[in-house]
Amino acid sequence: MKAIDVKNFYGTSTLAKQEIVERKINSKQQWVKKSRKMPTSILGPPEFWMEFYKQAEALRVAYEKSNDFQMLCTFVYQRENGYRKFVVAHPERYWWHYEHRPAEKRCSYEIIPEYHPCRLYLDLEYSIELNSKSDGPSMTDTIIDVFSAYLLAYWHVPCNKYSVINLDSSTNEKFSRHLIFNIKDVAFRDNYHVGRLVKSIYQDISDYVSHDAKSHDILCNFGKQKLERLIVETNKGKRLFVDTAVYTKNRQFRIYKSTKWGKRSNLIISNDSKYIPSNLSKDKELNIFLDSLITYFLAKKDLILLECPGNDAPVAKPFKQEIQQYHCFQDDHTYSSYSVLDKYISNLIYPGKVRAYKYLQPSKLSIYETSGYRYCENIGRCHKSNNVFWIVDLKNKTMYQKCQDQDCFGFKSKRRRLPEEICFQIDEDDDDILLCCADVTESIAQKAGSF
Ligand SMILES: [Zn+2]
Repeated sequence: MKAIDVKNFYGTSTLAKQEIVERKINSKQQWVKKSRKMPTSILGPPEFWMEFYKQAEALRVAYEKSNDFQMLCTFVYQRENGYRKFVVAHPERYWWHYEHRPAEKRCSYEIIPEYHPCRLYLDLEYSIELNSKSDGPSMTDTIIDVFSAYLLAYWHVPCNKYSVINLDSSTNEKFSRHLIFNIKDVAFRDNYHVGRLVKSIYQDISDYVSHDAKSHDILCNFGKQKLERLIVETNKGKRLFVDTAVYTKNRQFRIYKSTKWGKRSNLIISNDSKYIPSNLSKDKELNIFLDSLITYFLAKKDLILLECPGNDAPVAKPFKQEIQQYHCFQDDHTYSSYSVLDKYISNLIYPGKVRAYKYLQPSKLSIYETSGYRYCENIGRCHKSNNVFWIVDLKNKTMYQKCQDQDCFGFKSKRRRLPEEICFQIDEDDDDILLCCADVTESIAQKAGSF
């Protein structure tokens, strides 16, 4: 079998240019690359490696050299003299050279390019001296649960501790964690959207724990005391232990096993992390590294991007074509107490709207009357003027459609099962809600026929 010539495979011109750049750089400074040769493999990461003094140039090259199949990232590493240099490479290649550095010399950051899809990431910290009674691991647990609840409520994205990489770089003085939410095929449009979500949850929690009277759809699932514990003491007063300042333009975020210069506080997997790493490679450490990157995605074109616009209620906009747009409710009182279910129905009938909501207590049926949504499964097309309605049977977690048209009287569509994450939510909340809209009116019962 004839060996494949690497130069021909990747193209001579790129390699030639790259070699020139490398030679230039290596003549001035020694970077780890030469200490260890990565085996060449046809299925391995591209050989591309370029170093820069200017961030803008590095980002431009990373963008130009990436494609749907091979994504390059921009890293920055700190050198002895305090200088920072930028490297554009495939993360697997970067890891190969980086992981062998002595722990105190692994000072490296991933750059989160502006307007680039990224994962939800959180920077948690507090002073141990000022908060000797705080239980960091349990607070971290709560914050993961809170963010997971928001992801589910706003975007129907299921998430739990098993998909959150929980990295620790605490010292005796400071509790410090990085959380990266690694949800398959899901990312945020860019880190400004993440920032808005984080700030809005920050605000929600602050309001919720400070005003007794205020209720909150999502936060009410957590005990107030539990949320109060997330507020810590700082030199500038009390605040949540989530840093909201890490969502800026081209943000540098420390990577796995890296330390701040001179600190020896390398980020490691925390003792209480529940994360299940992917198994793309046999090298477990490499898997954790790749999973923990904020902007590296195996299949970027398959991503569902979440958006969090700047108004007070974060609206979601997953926009893989088949996923319908979530939209805000106009009148809270036309809905049940299961916000996930309401949102689900709301998406289903979009661009129609829920006109009225009724709950039949004894039979545990939720009825959503619609307007602007006329598709009827009985006739297989839209009615000209009559609207249809959807009925959710909370007892056996199914739903079906009925119709207000006279010709369709008595028709019930085939039952379909509610999505798992909604079933889960219903089980969780069972028994203590759904009392608000329990009045059944004659007219709707008549219109609907027998449910
Ligand atoms: Zn009909």
